[in-house]
Amino acid sequence: MYLYNSATHKKEEFRTHTPGRVEMYTCGPTVYHFAHIGNLRSYIMEDVLEKFLRYEGYDVNRVMNITDVGHLASDADTGEDKMLKGAKRENKSVMDIARFYTDAFFDDCAKLNIKTPDVVQPATGLIGEFIRVVSALIDRGYAYLAGGNVYFDTSRLDRYYVFNDHDEEDLAVGVREGVEEDENKRNKNDFVLWFTKSKFEDQALKWDSPWGVGYPGWHIECSCISMKFNGEYLDLHCGGVDNAFPHHTNEIAQSEAYLGHPWCAQWFHVHHLNTNSGKMSKSKGEFLTVSLLEEKGYDPLAYRFFCLQSHYRKGLVFSWENLDNAAGAYNKLIKRIAALTRLDGAVDEEAAAQLKERFLTQVGNDLNTAQGITCLYDVLKAPVNDVTKRAVLASFDQVLSLSLLEKAAALREKEAAQAKTAGADGFTIQGGGDPEIDALVLQRAEAKKAKNFAEADRIREELKGRGIEVTDVPGGAVWKRI
Ligand SMILES: [Zn+2]
Repeated sequence: MYLYNSATHKKEEFRTHTPGRVEMYTCGPTVYHFAHIGNLRSYIMEDVLEKFLRYEGYDVNRVMNITDVGHLASDADTGEDKMLKGAKRENKSVMDIARFYTDAFFDDCAKLNIKTPDVVQPATGLIGEFIRVVSALIDRGYAYLAGGNVYFDTSRLDRYYVFNDHDEEDLAVGVREGVEEDENKRNKNDFVLWFTKSKFEDQALKWDSPWGVGYPGWHIECSCISMKFNGEYLDLHCGGVDNAFPHHTNEIAQSEAYLGHPWCAQWFHVHHLNTNSGKMSKSKGEFLTVSLLEEKGYDPLAYRFFCLQSHYRKGLVFSWENLDNAAGAYNKLIKRIAALTRLDGAVDEEAAAQLKERFLTQVGNDLNTAQGITCLYDVLKAPVNDVTKRAVLASFDQVLSLSLLEKAAALREKEAAQAKTAGADGFTIQGGGDPEIDALVLQRAEAKKAKNFAEADRIREELKGRGIEVTDVPGGAVWKRI
């Protein structure tokens, strides 16, 4: 596939260090609160990327961290620890908060058909590894102790601004958030690897280390977790675009300083979900969660469909109206799939291969999921039998994960149940227990009752076309396959 690489600012042919295998890393959530649907947009797009690579035949090893310590309110190492903030807010222990919101995150992912990565590693479970890498960085002259903390020395690098579309403006992040400069830093972009002295007194989780009792910085956890479970060469690193600086920049700095060679080849950044008033965040406006969507009657997969309709490198504007439009289109699509016949027959393998080829090319062009959706409509319009259509749709859904056939089956059952209720005035149908056929037989009986004989005949012909013979009996109808 071709993928835009934010480290080189180019769309490149995707390659891996070991042929056929993808080492993939995803920055996981900081589990101090529910994820908002803007965060989940990134996880949806990363999920499609992983599934597309598997669909292309790659063996993928996907690793994700869970940040349960060390992520301060500002990404520039200042402010209060987010976990501690969550614990205070809810009057619970940090570990209780971490457990609760980790579970909540994976519940949301399940509702959105996001697969759980192969390895999920909470930061607090790997402290010894962080200490080992930080020690090595000090030994190699890439880190220094100042004021009780260990800092990474960015002046030791040939190149720090690897994502050079981030200008000086971004570097002022700490200042912008009203946080004073850390006087211990030798260079303004140096960052903390290990804290023993932070700006707040009551950090809940602390560990012994060669530099005193303290806790790791946020950036070091992703490098260590990836190097441990993905190995020394990472093929693909994913995250939201707001993680590019300083988080990913710092990950590269410390990983390459530690390894002594280039670390990650491709960087995949998903852009923001915006509201009409700007970037979505937990602190601003309505706190939009998957549960809130459900409370308002939306299928979480309609939100997934909404995300897939637009490109991951473009900001996406969320509004209830936009979501309504997506939900309407999603329901219509399911309806059309539900209307496909389910007779046995042969899949037209040649036509199916052509449709799949097109899907691979379209989606393989920088993960163009909107074109992936268009491919679904192309299948429905294709001059092939319904068996082929269903098989190809099921195949594409391995990547898109919209539960297309499952939702269509559920819709058919619901409609059949409703049809039976509607004909509840004693009309009975005997047949093979196929709700779709039952519904047609009932429709025919109702057409006859309304003296709409043309429609009744048309349905009889349609049933005949599907290999069904229907016979009227007193108070009902019997049907059988011929
Ligand atoms: Zn990370």
